Amino acid sequence: MEDQTSTQMIMNQRKGRRLVLFPLPLQGHINPMLQLANILHSHGFSITIIHTNFNSPNPSNHPHFTFHFISENLSETELRTSSDNLLALVALLNTRCVEAFHDCLDKLMNHQEEQPVACLISDAILPFTQAVADKLKLPRIVLRTGGASSFVVFAAFPLLRERGYLPIQDSKLEEPVVELPPLKVKDLPVIDNCDPQTLDQVVDGMVNGAKVSSGLIWNTFEGLEQSSLDTLGQKISIPIFPIGPFHKIFSTSSSSSSSLLKQDQSCISWLDKQAPKSVIYVSFGSIAAINENHFLEIAFGLANSNQPFLWVVRPGLTVGSDWLELLPSGFIQKLSGRGHIVKWVPQQEVLAHSSVGAFWTHNGWNSTLESICEGVPMICMPCFTDQRVNARYVSDVWRVGLQLENGNLERGEIEKLIRRLMVEKEGEEIRERILCLKEKASLCLKEGGSSYESINSLVSHILSLDS
Ligand code: UDP
Repeated sequence: MEDQTSTQMIMNQRKGRRLVLFPLPLQGHINPMLQLANILHSHGFSITIIHTNFNSPNPSNHPHFTFHFISENLSETELRTSSDNLLALVALLNTRCVEAFHDCLDKLMNHQEEQPVACLISDAILPFTQAVADKLKLPRIVLRTGGASSFVVFAAFPLLRERGYLPIQDSKLEEPVVELPPLKVKDLPVIDNCDPQTLDQVVDGMVNGAKVSSGLIWNTFEGLEQSSLDTLGQKISIPIFPIGPFHKIFSTSSSSSSSLLKQDQSCISWLDKQAPKSVIYVSFGSIAAINENHFLEIAFGLANSNQPFLWVVRPGLTVGSDWLELLPSGFIQKLSGRGHIVKWVPQQEVLAHSSVGAFWTHNGWNSTLESICEGVPMICMPCFTDQRVNARYVSDVWRVGLQLENGNLERGEIEKLIRRLMVEKEGEEIRERILCLKEKASLCLKEGGSSYESINSLVSHILSLDS
């Protein structure tokens, strides 16, 4: 009885509390922010999303949220050129959105008819929002959409610079980073050929902005990243909330999807026709690009592997090519239905399909987590930033995947690696290990599990913030 009364009191207190969420406008950041919005909505909060016009998700897929769109103040040319240069885009967003974001948030806070705003939750990569929130005297909680282990590495950037690991020297790529085992220099989360100063500015802004916020939310779970979370707990004095995997708390259907590209459903009926655990699902996420040579080696490696494959070739995946023009004529016909190539898929549904036996991934954090949650072993081919750390953890710490080491993107090597994972004993052991992690991911969300408890702590924390 007492319990019921206190629950009722909390629900009443929560009524009228509104949260304003602001994602970084990139697919791998929008998805977890909207999943988080759904989680918090199910705990009684009203949700307002501020979003840039650029890359805006479809509000009608989220009728229970209120959307406000702001201009990112970037010209067409700036948007076009910066889409090839992620860091430049992030740096620009952090300077050009300030005024529009401030005005929008200010209006929302002063809207008398609306419920009071309890706090702002914004992406870690948008640290400018901390200064705006401070100015408006609104607490800011940070969502880090990447893993905790890669954040430990980002937080160590000053040390890595001091000890000469950064900027990376090509002659040292294979050397260990003794302070951060089992990482090698080549696993450090940088972007090749980018300006090291811009990288430092973005990374330091993210880490320092998180440190002075009112709390840090992670899309991860203790059973996966306990030791990195402990390390962060020692280094960061604000409360941290590992409440993932988000997509397993609130699973999306196509009608509630935050996908920016149209999902090709034909892949599901194609998967229905394949043997259990036989298909290699291949996707490198929403941003990574590969060169022509790599595209062809991947295509022939897959074709020669004799395994069925489902390959997402996003328009723009291959530099200098629109879609599949680089494939020799008759390539697909010769596969006699063993390969299916599409532009974009409902990835969570694909990974959960009983025909999928492996995921060849770039190891973006969402993809990595989605693979773990479905118990699908990985072939890791990281491209840049945190993907490299994630891939090293997948192959060497959790040991739930094999890594295509740099320089080995050659059809014969690809074929061998696919055999190791799909046919040999080594692959069986990897599958057993990832099934254990899948089980842990499921347990942490049950009553009494670490993420379940952490969500409750987060809700209490938000309610305790004095705005
Ligand atoms: N995704 C999808 N369909 C695809 C490929 C990817 O829905 O064909 C989703 C995937 O489920 C994940 C997100 O896009 O949630 C990609 O995020 P991730 O962090 O893996 O990589 P990024 O795109 O940020 O590099």
